[in-house]
Amino acid sequence: MLKTPYYLIDKSKLLRNLEKIARVRELSGAKSLLALKCFATWSVFDLMSQYMDGSTSSSLYEVKLGKLKFPGETHAYSVAYADDEMAEVLAHSDKIIFNSISQLERFSEASSEHVRGLRVNPQVSSSEFILADPARPFSRLGESDPDKIAQVMDRISGFMFHNNCENANFELFDQMLQHIEARFGHLLHQVKWVSLGGGIHFTGEGYPLERFAARLKQLADTYSVQIYLEPGEAAITQSTSLEVTVLDTLFNGKHLAIVDSSIEAHMLDLLIYRQSAKMTPCEGEHEYMICGKSCLAGDIFGEFKFDQPLQIGDRLSFEDAAGYTMVKKNWFNGVKMPAIAVRQLDGEVELIREFGFDDFVQSLS
Ligand SMILES: *Cc1c(COP(=O)(O)O)cnc(C)c1O
Repeated sequence: MLKTPYYLIDKSKLLRNLEKIARVRELSGAKSLLALKCFATWSVFDLMSQYMDGSTSSSLYEVKLGKLKFPGETHAYSVAYADDEMAEVLAHSDKIIFNSISQLERFSEASSEHVRGLRVNPQVSSSEFILADPARPFSRLGESDPDKIAQVMDRISGFMFHNNCENANFELFDQMLQHIEARFGHLLHQVKWVSLGGGIHFTGEGYPLERFAARLKQLADTYSVQIYLEPGEAAITQSTSLEVTVLDTLFNGKHLAIVDSSIEAHMLDLLIYRQSAKMTPCEGEHEYMICGKSCLAGDIFGEFKFDQPLQIGDRLSFEDAAGYTMVKKNWFNGVKMPAIAVRQLDGEVELIREFGFDDFVQSLS
């Protein structure tokens, strides 16, 4: 048995998402690019690239990683590029999407030979969190004035809209697309490709995949464009767990169990969005608050029920630990960073990477 803590990526679970992604392409013609900011564990990119068309990025380092590790197309995007990044970004990408007209103009000459696009902010979104809402007031994410955009159409051949956020509601997706068409339709007729970004939960249980694909195809046909999707979470949802071990148990009015991991260091997104970790549901009579081993008082994974009292040495498994989780792991408190393991399609679990004291030392100087 592998030593905890470790993230366990299960390829057969990953495959369930990937097969749906490939199905959408088959039905609609829409290409899917993995959003590396959500998930960048490149040891499974060989498998993912068999079902997806490439990767998209939010920085120079991500675009280089995508070019290096993810076969297929490589899209470059960043909220803002620095002057000294541009040559390398262009050298490692097939398309570049600028976040603003001023960035497009700044790098107009440098990028004149490149396929270029512009991020458009339709000022509607499905986000429930202001923190993650691209359409929040005073948003810096994309241009929203159709008249201003019309003036740079000679320099771009595509648009990127990213206004969905974990949106599992097809009707809402459709409504927002109608809004985009009403407001930017005349411009859509002038481009060759349109990326609809990420945040569409189309690999989820019960999502109307056929209707979704038909809607994408309708959009592609209406404007004669190649549609791209940029799934992050949807590509890797429910594929990965964080495996931990109970180190201590306490009682202070509630039963507590401390594990060899930390929510702040290893599942940071849950802390940011004030959500509980997930475990396989159990209605047993023994309830515990599962806590991390960092010094942060609120380092709490959540409260869970178990069939048996927890013992030191028991193993626990938190679900859904791929998206925005592995990419955010950090060395807070010097807590041992989880190793990375992969359950191959034949069921064999393979240890891919371990992190040790040297990595901790190397992370600062
Ligand atoms: C974050 C992001 C994505 C991926 O979003 P998910 O919610 O993980 O699918 C795709 N495109 C852009 C531009 C993004 O900012």
